[in-house]
Amino acid sequence: MTKNVLVLPGDGIGPEIVAQAVRVLDAVNEQFSLNIKHESALVGGSAYDETGSPLPEETLAKAKAADAILLGAVGGPKWDKLDMYVRPEKGLLGLRSNLELFSNLRPAILYPQLAEASSLKPEIVAGLDILIVRELTGGIYFGQPRGIRTLENGEREGFNTYVYNESEIRRIGRSAFEAARQRGKRVCSIDKSNVLEVTVLWKEIMEEVAKEYPDVELTHMLVDNAAMQLVRAPKQFDVMVTGNMFGDILSDAAAMLTGSIGMLPSASLNAEGRGMYEPCHGSAPDIAGQGIANPLATILSVAMMLRYSLDAKDAADAIEAAVSKVLDLGLRTSDIASKGCETVSTQA
Ligand code: ATP
Ligand code: MG
Repeated sequence: MTKNVLVLPGDGIGPEIVAQAVRVLDAVNEQFSLNIKHESALVGGSAYDETGSPLPEETLAKAKAADAILLGAVGGPKWDKLDMYVRPEKGLLGLRSNLELFSNLRPAILYPQLAEASSLKPEIVAGLDILIVRELTGGIYFGQPRGIRTLENGEREGFNTYVYNESEIRRIGRSAFEAARQRGKRVCSIDKSNVLEVTVLWKEIMEEVAKEYPDVELTHMLVDNAAMQLVRAPKQFDVMVTGNMFGDILSDAAAMLTGSIGMLPSASLNAEGRGMYEPCHGSAPDIAGQGIANPLATILSVAMMLRYSLDAKDAADAIEAAVSKVLDLGLRTSDIASKGCETVSTQA
């Protein structure tokens, strides 16, 4: 059966890095006879320039029909003065909400060749391979009511609502357990159940989900302890699952353990396992067009796409092995340059 991939190069370094990732996709497609077809569409600032919208109807329709989406990055100073509703970032948020991409997977893997780039000591991070599963379309980021109001005494107060219902917790839980099945078979659920009722429910539903996955072990940890453990002994984790805000914070902390933002892929999945894959970094306008951007985060996003949406685990493994080999050969883009290594361009 043919699988359809929608390629969205976007803005800034997006087109440069996506072009390299598509070369890799084409190579494994042929080598593993995957029967993948891909086409490109506009999103972000470049879409606004052509059509007046950062997420044209045509792009959204193609995104809904695709088995997976590969995105570069959107945005840049050129569009900073635009109205909120036509900003490039609206294109990205529009894709996330329209496709209900509630499950954000962010692996933090330390390549041994880049150990000196980590912010922690080598013995603490050597062999690090963890996956943070962050709920992306709910929690305090979206809860109602929210706002800033003026009290009777004239003082203002800001307020947000931290809310999750059972089905939202259940689906992100299943997403984490499914991912754990393909890895180390351990899930650690992060909450603040000693203070926040919403996370008492979170913990309870995670226990329910765990019963569907007897082959995966579930543990729980309070978020403050999890933050400490991430920098103290990060290798104790396999999959960490948590809500939108805790996940935002913990995944940035985890990212720093791995050295360079140019190495980090991500996946955002919906209930059917279809998803959007993109590097964790942005459009890097400061280096766009120079051919020096690191394409590995995008190439590793292709590996995630093959693993999670296209049922092609062998091809995913092959890409990850190839990335490791490139690093072994001492080839580095300038963001991960180090002594004794050869600095290469984006397309080398
Ligand atoms: P966004 O708001 O879209 O996340 P940002 O302004 O936070 O964007 P990035 O676009 O990620 O930031 O860029 C942050 C820094 O990292 C910049 O100096 C950029 O050049 C660098 N950078 C980002 N991605 C890469 C890459 N793939 N290769 C090399 N350097 C990169
Ligand atoms: Mg950023």
